[in-house]
Amino acid sequence: MNLVKRELFGPGPTNVPDSVLDALSRPTIGHLDPQFLEIMDEINESLRYCFQTQNALTFVLSAPGSIGMETSFVNLVEPGEKVVICINGVFGGRMKDICRRIGAEVVTIENKWGTPVNPDELQKTLQAHDDAEIVAFVHAETSTGVRSDASTIARIAKSHDCLVIADCVTSLAGVELRVDDWELDVVYSGSQKCLSCVPGLSPITFSDAAVEKVKRRQTPVQSWFCDISLLMSYYESGEKTRAYHHTAPVNALFAMHQALKLVVNESLEARWARHSDAVNRLYARLEAAGLEMIVEEQHRLAPLTLVRVPDGISDAEIRQSLLAQNIEIGAGLGKFAGKAWRFGLMGENASIQRADFIADALLSTIESCR
Ligand SMILES: *Cc1c(COP(=O)(O)O)cnc(C)c1O
Repeated sequence: MNLVKRELFGPGPTNVPDSVLDALSRPTIGHLDPQFLEIMDEINESLRYCFQTQNALTFVLSAPGSIGMETSFVNLVEPGEKVVICINGVFGGRMKDICRRIGAEVVTIENKWGTPVNPDELQKTLQAHDDAEIVAFVHAETSTGVRSDASTIARIAKSHDCLVIADCVTSLAGVELRVDDWELDVVYSGSQKCLSCVPGLSPITFSDAAVEKVKRRQTPVQSWFCDISLLMSYYESGEKTRAYHHTAPVNALFAMHQALKLVVNESLEARWARHSDAVNRLYARLEAAGLEMIVEEQHRLAPLTLVRVPDGISDAEIRQSLLAQNIEIGAGLGKFAGKAWRFGLMGENASIQRADFIADALLSTIESCR
């Protein structure tokens, strides 16, 4: 098949640097080969830096971001336990579905789409439900382009003795994230967003308190594959007695190793600033042309921007026309379907030059469709 390269400006995957693709195509080796174990140790070390954590249990799950979500909940939540889920888009809704399937008692806080999680509502909810054990939220809602205040949410949750699960799929290595300082207990992400790696992997980290809660479980984790007490025997370094759990996706992890190396070499602070500078250029270019951003400025998520579809313009026609130019952008989801486009400036594509590229492409395409 003759595969045409695309410029990926949607909600992920984003374009992958050549050095990461080169790493992917290195010769496959065994997943218990000492060379590979060394690579895994390096991956886990780099990940601790990216998450800004000292958590011992920090590793990469062998499946996409969704398995990070699944793994967080199936381990931390037992049937009948009370979980408070802050929902402000598609992904918070999925957290609720997972918890229902576990048989948890789910309390939801629904925030208007396009707005962040409301900390005051969380405070009130936790006062009314003082038996809640877990608070979960999405730091960076990719469906709405909103960043919530993770440190405030976690502080409130901790003052009510709850453990905190945070979806950081679109924030890791794109916007400020400090797992230890903010006291987040379980944080998961995905490979294909701001890390600019190939899709299909999910970095995850567990605080000691989270691991303790898993050890205290009365019931076994329903999912064999996602049970961290089994996974730990493979991922935890130290005594080097790694046991077979499943065959790790060796080549994808070569790619992750290189993608993380790029983050470490650049530094997180520089990378966060790059994402911010790039998106500021996008806002400026599009606003100068009369286009409107959906999310209020202080709550916008740098890696993902929602732009209102102007009156008289067909959302789908523009996306199709861009794809004909080998440029992918995202459609609006849920309440924003047909009403907004989603532009990702993630990882490789978070630069002024790439922001200009996508702004030029969008504006000329709108002009030609008028
Ligand atoms: C992309 C995304 C996911 C799911 O990741 P997959 O790799 O598609 O499984 C979960 N949460 C958020 C916020 C996301 O943006």
